Amino acid sequence: MAVCTQCGKQLTHNETGLYKRLVSRDSTEFLCLECLAKAFRVPEERLREKIREYIRQGCTLFTEE
Ligand SMILES: [Zn+2]
Repeated sequence: MAVCTQCGKQLTHNETGLYKRLVSRDSTEFLCLECLAKAFRVPEERLREKIREYIRQGCTLFTEE
């Protein structure tokens, strides 16, 4: 299981998926939702909405939680 390179937290499938969608599809290092929100200066809730959006689109990088 991947961990956040910033804080060391264990990442969920959707967190790595979101990082791939927003940053780089081929990335092997990831950030958790919290650190990603800080890096992008957006509210965490906005990123959660993004994940729900991708799930609705049927993106294979995400799963219903
Ligand atoms: Zn983190």
